[in-house]
Amino acid sequence: MSVFLVLFVGTLVNSVIVSAKNDIYSGYSVHGVQLRSRSDQIVLYNLQSELNVDLWEYGAPSTRDAYIMVSPENRAEVFDMLDANNMKHYVHLPDVAKENPSYVTLVNVGESFEGRAIKYLKISTSNFSNSSKPIYLMDATMHAREWVTTPVTLYTIHRLVEDLKAEDFDLLENIDWIIMPIVNPDGYVYTHTDERLWRGTRSYYPTVSTTCYGVDANRNFDINFNTLGVSSNPCALNYPGHEPFSEPETRYVRDILLKYIDRIQIYMNIHSHGNYVLYGYGNTTLPSNAVQLHHVGAAMGAKIDALKLPEAGYYRVGNSHLVLYGSSGSAQDYGQAVGVPFSYTLELPGYGYGFLVPPEFIEQINAETWQGIAVTARLSYLYYRARNERT
Ligand SMILES: [Zn+2]
Repeated sequence: MSVFLVLFVGTLVNSVIVSAKNDIYSGYSVHGVQLRSRSDQIVLYNLQSELNVDLWEYGAPSTRDAYIMVSPENRAEVFDMLDANNMKHYVHLPDVAKENPSYVTLVNVGESFEGRAIKYLKISTSNFSNSSKPIYLMDATMHAREWVTTPVTLYTIHRLVEDLKAEDFDLLENIDWIIMPIVNPDGYVYTHTDERLWRGTRSYYPTVSTTCYGVDANRNFDINFNTLGVSSNPCALNYPGHEPFSEPETRYVRDILLKYIDRIQIYMNIHSHGNYVLYGYGNTTLPSNAVQLHHVGAAMGAKIDALKLPEAGYYRVGNSHLVLYGSSGSAQDYGQAVGVPFSYTLELPGYGYGFLVPPEFIEQINAETWQGIAVTARLSYLYYRARNERT
């Protein structure tokens, strides 16, 4: 994963909005170069230092072409050098700025209870100006100890921004994305410094309790609040808080949902663990589009199952109460209730390690879950289009 993502998560910089700028690459072109031998590669290495050529892909002699990015000023000289060495080359991207418009915006929504910046990325080919495009909203680490969920969001960003494959162009052309990798940074930090298995936020309300901190963010939403699958004990893991949206962290998610509710077609609230794709409501009431919810969720589960490790369980898909347990005040239910057609809880695999999934599984989870996400994006897009064509 790249420097960009490390910076994004690592620094939690304080700028309000930063757009990725590609204007400086206006007129830069990218060329494929056929490599016959190691000496051809050396020619490219030399161009790198002498003519400021950027080697995008090193390539491999006789099997894989190299790719070089060339500035307008140096283009003629670079071509002369390639031609002098009888190296075949061709245009891959005629103008990098045009090919990669600035389509990533970092948004700082506000501070956590303890004052940490909470951020999300907006990814859009039209800077969110095309109101006819649906939005895919995804978030992770609402529960602090579920560390393996954040890499999935980062990998999604990676695949949409840094490593967009030709077969995935539709995911950017048709859909805008909002991705919040860490909903609950206070709890996340606390799992590193104090208690690895901490689940809640880290808020402190002395009028409620002077000994226990935090609430279960995924019971804190204003939907059937404090009715099912919760404890009134402020020290309990599933304490929902003294009132709906008592936590700044859940208020930020709410605000995103409400701000873009006309366009959010799918909300994926990512958790760990258990291999589930779940939908509302936590009290067993089914949303009116339950068949569609099941269709899209089942397609995701099936896609991931086809790619899973042998030791992983199969995904189970269904109503969160019927398949797993009763709950109230969940993000999934809130999203559904305020009008997101496809609102899900995703429980990633635990491989028997529960919340302590070892890092060596991250790559597998990222890859298989990305494929599942792509399936849900495409299917829910078809439903979006069908609905909009009718109205
Ligand atoms: Zn969770």
